[in-house]
Amino acid sequence: MRDYATLLKTHGMKSSLQRLFILKSLDERGHATIDEVFEDLKKTNPSISLSAVYRNINEMEKSNMVSEIAIPKRKNRYEITKGLHSHLLCRECGKIIDVDVDMYETIKKLEDRYECHINDQDIIFDILCAECKK
Ligand SMILES: [Zn+2]
Ligand SMILES: [Zn+2]
Repeated sequence: MRDYATLLKTHGMKSSLQRLFILKSLDERGHATIDEVFEDLKKTNPSISLSAVYRNINEMEKSNMVSEIAIPKRKNRYEITKGLHSHLLCRECGKIIDVDVDMYETIKKLEDRYECHINDQDIIFDILCAECKK
C-alpha cells in the first residue's frame, strides 16, 4: 500500500481518514467514478455522504493530487495524478487503460503552427478491449 499520508502532506493537505480511504479506493481501482469511491467508503464508514466524497475529491483535484478524466457521454473518472499519459477506453465494458503515447513531435508542430503553448494533453482512444473484441 502506498503511503497516502505522505502524499497528502507533500501536497500541503491535512490527512484525514476520509481522504486516506478515497486515495486507497482510487489507487486500487485505477480510474474511478465518484459513485464507485462512495461505494468503497461506505463499506468502512456507513455514515459517509456522497457530498463529502465530492468535496474531498474536488479539494484533492485543486491541489493536483487527483486528476479528473472527462469522458464524453459517461461519468467523469478520477485517478491519482501520475505523469502525462493518455487513455484507452473500451466502449463496451468501460475499462480504462493507461498508455504512454509519445506526442512530443506532434505537440511541437502544433505549438509552432498555432503559435501557442500546449499545457496538457487529454487524449482518450475509443477502443474495443481484448476481452470485448472476442
Ligand atoms: Zn472491454
Ligand atoms: Zn490514467
